[in-house]
Amino acid sequence: SKPRLRPTPQEKNSGSKCVISMHSSTTTIIQDPKNPEHTKTFIFDLAYWSHDGFQKDKDGVFISADPSSKFAGQRDVFHDLGRGILDSAWQGYNTTLLAYGQTGSGKSYSMIGFGANKGIIPNVCEELFHAIESREKNHEYQVTFSMLEIYNEQVRDLLSRTKKPGGLKVREDQQLGFYVDGLKSVPCENYAQIERLMEQGTKIRTTASTNMNASSSRSHMVITIQFKQVFLDRDLTKQSSINLVDLAGSERQKSSGSEGDRLREGSRVNLSLTNLGNVISALADAAMAKKVLHIPYRDSVLTKLLQSALGGNSRTALIAAISPADICYEETLSTLRYAERYGVNAGRPAPPASATG
Ligand code: ADP
Ligand code: MG
Repeated sequence: SKPRLRPTPQEKNSGSKCVISMHSSTTTIIQDPKNPEHTKTFIFDLAYWSHDGFQKDKDGVFISADPSSKFAGQRDVFHDLGRGILDSAWQGYNTTLLAYGQTGSGKSYSMIGFGANKGIIPNVCEELFHAIESREKNHEYQVTFSMLEIYNEQVRDLLSRTKKPGGLKVREDQQLGFYVDGLKSVPCENYAQIERLMEQGTKIRTTASTNMNASSSRSHMVITIQFKQVFLDRDLTKQSSINLVDLAGSERQKSSGSEGDRLREGSRVNLSLTNLGNVISALADAAMAKKVLHIPYRDSVLTKLLQSALGGNSRTALIAAISPADICYEETLSTLRYAERYGVNAGRPAPPASATG
């Protein structure tokens, strides 16, 4: 898991204090600004500092203000995480990247990005096609793209304008495992196509949540890229699915004033995030004990759909997005704990950080 700290002009202006510091792979949170020596420290594989020490370049991209700055921009994050995803995909492993954190902490910014500051998903897709174009021509490459949203345990195809009442059905197949019946999976031949689909999907996600008088922060978004390599001369194929997940906001739901639907929606979100954590930690336990353990995939739609993406032949990473502000202290601490507890490398000493924060 990798925490990522975002810059927050509003929070700076409103006079809130920064309670986070990062050094190499450690992330420290001050528990009480009046007692700054009272801290909690977490160790992760990587930590990214995006709070200050940056400037805009001529294209509007945030970059380090000077060589001594520890600022990490979108390119730095892609360099570590995106490369790992692409390497795994070329080798034929399934890979999953999850973004976890409270609403407003920078999950979508990290995954999709805004404007010139493209996130991991566009960078991964662009780089994938770039690599394909420079490969040998006696191999065949197929890329398909799908994008869905899970809201209140119902699946919606974000590439389709027609909304199925009750959502798309999640079915189970002996061979394929769980899958979404009728989900669009669009073959793509270049990055521009994916960019267009992603824009469309994001628009549908926002409109849908406005119509339901809900917030898209209460839904999980899952983008899946199926990548198939056919080696024509060797009668061999390699297949990998790349799963990129922008999780619903992890904030605790306040019970006051949120009756009925809102409350049910909130508790379902928190349940599915807890369940995701349980699946990840059960998988880590099983790997550690080298035993077959029961993995509770069936407990939520998200884990059903990620079954093949999380278990077995796959690699998973989690980005924990956090706010630096003292007013977000509780949620930030809970995010760091989640990342620590369910961190994919939990139980193993963290490798030396290749990025500092
Ligand atoms: P979330 O998806 O977790 O709810 P967003 O990604 O939408 O949060 O981020 C909230 C706001 O903060 C957005 O306006 C976004 O542009 C900004 N932001 C988040 N992370 C960063 C970052 N690392 N650098 C610059 N701006 C960021
Ligand atoms: Mg978001």
